[in-house]
Amino acid sequence: MDVAIVGSGPNGLAAGVVLARAGLSVHVFEAGDTFGGGLRSKPLFDPEIVHDICSAVHPLGAASRFFREFDLEARGVELCVPEASYAHPLDGAQAGVAYRDLERTCERLGRDGPRWRRLMEPLVEHSQSVVDLVLSDQRHLPRDVLAPLLLAPRALLGGSPLTSRLLASRTARALLAGVAAHSLGRLPSLPGGAVAMLLGHLAHASGWPLPRGGSQRLADALVADIEAHGGTCHAATPIEDLREVERAKAVLLNVSPKVFLALAGPRLPDRYRRRLGRFDHGPASAKVDFLVSEPVPWRDPEVGSAPTVHVGGDDREVFAYESAVQRGERRGEPFVLLVDPAVADPDRARSGRRPLWAYCHVPNGDPVDPTEAITARIERYAPGFRDTVLASRAITAPEFESYNRNYVGGDIAGGAVTVPQMLARPALRVNPYATPLPGVYLCSASTPPGPSVHGMAGYHAARAVLRKEFGIRTLPALEPGPPVNPGGRVR
Ligand SMILES: Cc1cc2nc3c(=O)[nH]c(=O)nc-3n(C[C@H](O)[C@H](O)[C@H](O)COP(=O)(O)OP(=O)(O)OC[C@H]3O[C@@H](n4cnc5c(N)ncnc54)[C@H](O)[C@@H]3O)c2cc1C
Repeated sequence: MDVAIVGSGPNGLAAGVVLARAGLSVHVFEAGDTFGGGLRSKPLFDPEIVHDICSAVHPLGAASRFFREFDLEARGVELCVPEASYAHPLDGAQAGVAYRDLERTCERLGRDGPRWRRLMEPLVEHSQSVVDLVLSDQRHLPRDVLAPLLLAPRALLGGSPLTSRLLASRTARALLAGVAAHSLGRLPSLPGGAVAMLLGHLAHASGWPLPRGGSQRLADALVADIEAHGGTCHAATPIEDLREVERAKAVLLNVSPKVFLALAGPRLPDRYRRRLGRFDHGPASAKVDFLVSEPVPWRDPEVGSAPTVHVGGDDREVFAYESAVQRGERRGEPFVLLVDPAVADPDRARSGRRPLWAYCHVPNGDPVDPTEAITARIERYAPGFRDTVLASRAITAPEFESYNRNYVGGDIAGGAVTVPQMLARPALRVNPYATPLPGVYLCSASTPPGPSVHGMAGYHAARAVLRKEFGIRTLPALEPGPPVNPGGRVR
């Protein structure tokens, strides 16, 4: 065995694709019964209705360099790109809607339209460079120097209290605040501003797509490619000690620092062990999967044109709730991220039954069942919603960690998204993927570029493994078809 990969999340599988295509023998070991980590989907209440257990919407799955090269569509994975990327209902003000069409978005925003355009249009025009910058390994200069020049001032502005001066209306401010809240931390903040600009501009560029049939389709395509290139994926095979994979020449760990510490035991040097021990976990998530009888009855019907809806009141409410959660407090009504997948992919619904995905951020380790808080929050903007619920299932923060041991205390981001932890993730090192153990690398959301389904931590870690462990400097082609390996198999 050339390479053992522990964990089959999007990063582990992306690493597997790159390494198997480079001609190495790859084995992926997954603790769960199925592959995919945060990409898993399955029926919960009704055999015909598929629910996304973790990720549902894939702006970065469409835009990242790994997935661009991997070319999901050419592999039969259809990305349903909705006309409205996301919406944000409000009490007593027009709901915000971020259409894929920037022009239409600006028109709806009225006097804030020109301001929204100034914020987003330059990023949309340089979208690929902006995405490549944010999803880089943070160790190379950007290919397009314009990208940081466009992104940095906007992230600073979007991450400061000045946002409320920048945009005049509650509608526009809420539209931006809702995307910033994907950063899972205190708001406003620099990471929040950066996330708002990254995901916000993608809403008007490649969009916020949902894979037809559910996120599992992405995992299935990745597994199929690894196997087509000679790799083997083993489900229900937890690795509890690194010695179980010591016969591999290189080991890639798609795991959190906490899991790595447990796997490595006393083999890690004390200094590195202490640094990983200090790695901070951020707020958690608590989720409810609903089976509902009809689309959410939003008071403003235009909200229903978007599969993704941010349900959290105006920017001040969103900021106050998210900042309280960051401090470990539970305060007021939650900020809810909601996805109705059948809006983009009608086949996800069957007569009178459709899945609904909703979660909110809660303090790390919070054991409270979020069903009532999330239901009440949606009901406030969609009277009658409660009556459409046929069944529901909650996953509390501690249950998220039982489901996937990477989600420490329910932190689904693989570690707090703070400036220091984004620059030194999981510890300050020349190569953030390498560890002090020879041939052992990390490749999870706890390494750059951090959380979300983009595959780039796996891609960067695989590149380091190819170069350092196998002397292969040329990356294999990733598009569908037989292996094309211009670098040849260099051992
Ligand atoms: C509720 C929720 C909603 C989300 N929504 C979105 C979204 O809409 N869009 C988006 O882009 N992202 C979303 N995310 C985040 C996204 O899912 C994660 O950032 C991403 O999956 C992280 O990928 P990863 O490869 O690092 O690891 P993971 O996806 O965490 O996968 C790691 C895998 O490793 C396995 N593993 C761990 N330890 C071991 C071991 N010792 N032995 C064997 N196997 C092991 C785990 O079982 C797991 O399958 C969401 C996450 C959650 C939980």
